[in-house]
Amino acid sequence: MGPDRYCDEVVPGTVKVEVLVRTENTLAFRPPLPGFGTDHIIVIPTRHVSSLLDLDDDLTIELLSTVKNVAALAVDQHGGCQVLTTLGDEQHNKHLHWHVAVGDGVARFVPRA
Ligand SMILES: [Zn+2]
Repeated sequence: MGPDRYCDEVVPGTVKVEVLVRTENTLAFRPPLPGFGTDHIIVIPTRHVSSLLDLDDDLTIELLSTVKNVAALAVDQHGGCQVLTTLGDEQHNKHLHWHVAVGDGVARFVPRA
């Protein structure tokens, strides 16, 4: 079991974050230390869900809707963004989270020549 900064710090409010969207069961916020260059928004369920593989159908629509709304803001403001979640060994924080990322640091999917 890895660290869970979202249940431990963000949801209870012990770490201050800039909240963009809050719904009954989801939260979208800018982290204090952005991981991506231009803009970086994290979207989480406010109750513990370990990863996308453990997400209930009920919460899926609400969570993806919050992801969609902040991604739309990022596209309006910056012209594009990347939306991603990580799983297994690639997931460092073991609370399901989506990154909506803009600018340096997003993965560039370049077609192979
Ligand atoms: Zn958690």
